[in-house]
Amino acid sequence: MRPIERPSPIAASVDFDADGVQHGFLRLPYSRDDSAWGSVMIPITVVKRGEGPTALLTGANHGDEYEGPIALFDLARTLTAEQIQGRVIIVPAMNYPAFRAGTRTSPIDRGNLNRSFPGRPDGTVTEKIADYFQRTLLPLADIVLDFHSGGRTLDFLPYAAAHELPDKAQERLCFDAVAAFAAPYSMRMIEIDAVGMYDSAAEEMGKIFVTTELSGGGTASAKTVRIAKRGTMNVLKHAGIVAGRPETEPTRWLDMPSAECFRFAEDNGLVEPCIDLGDPVQRGDIIARIHPIGRTGQSPKEYRAALDGVLAARHFPGLVKTGDCLAVVATVED
Ligand code: ZN
Repeated sequence: MRPIERPSPIAASVDFDADGVQHGFLRLPYSRDDSAWGSVMIPITVVKRGEGPTALLTGANHGDEYEGPIALFDLARTLTAEQIQGRVIIVPAMNYPAFRAGTRTSPIDRGNLNRSFPGRPDGTVTEKIADYFQRTLLPLADIVLDFHSGGRTLDFLPYAAAHELPDKAQERLCFDAVAAFAAPYSMRMIEIDAVGMYDSAAEEMGKIFVTTELSGGGTASAKTVRIAKRGTMNVLKHAGIVAGRPETEPTRWLDMPSAECFRFAEDNGLVEPCIDLGDPVQRGDIIARIHPIGRTGQSPKEYRAALDGVLAARHFPGLVKTGDCLAVVATVED
């Protein structure tokens, strides 16, 4: 006998089947010292007109990544039903407690939303958010765009990305959507550890899934915000939800062919970058040096590229700890 599925404690104040523009909340009950019967109120906008595909657009899956929330709060305010055919569901800040705190993980339970899928309806606050996306929002979607950047500790070349998938037809559709997003770079991405990711949850449901990494450092720039806004409209056009053709620009395709792409710090200390994001590297070139900071007179440790390519990501803060991701080298596909 199958156990009865426990319903999500999250209640949406919007009707996903109603035409028009609705601004509301996903209300998640959260009883605590300062609010006995309180809730976490996650902003959501639904724009719908008639029949057609559904796009699910999300930012702040990690709370300290800002291009997605900027582009999506803006889109939620400006998108009209007349502009679309189908449905657009916009959640500018998925892990809302983390977004409000300006941190990667939730200040309530330290939950990393992108490691919490499929979530639990009877779990932590973060697991409850994951469960709601897993069982309620993802099943509504045809195409899913989830914005990321490097957050406070990483900085990336601006790229949209998809993953290699077992279903090659689905993989093709994902990479077509990455091309339509038209970031300056497009990445065939591998993950250090894909367990619990929103990406995998969407992909396993057969959805067209596009993610991004658009700079980082716990802030945004005019350039990366423009990339995010244009990319969002491009994906909606590509999906046939908004009329018109995507505004494409040349993109440089990058690949992460193996775990050798990642360099992890094996020392604590002060990072001296030896190349910058986008610079070409050859196997054996020094990417960065880590200087010991306990005393003077000691040599820095050199970190070298394990393959030919370009520097696609780097550790952002000036000080680094053992185990931190120091750099990612991606190969260039010509
Ligand atoms: Zn992220």
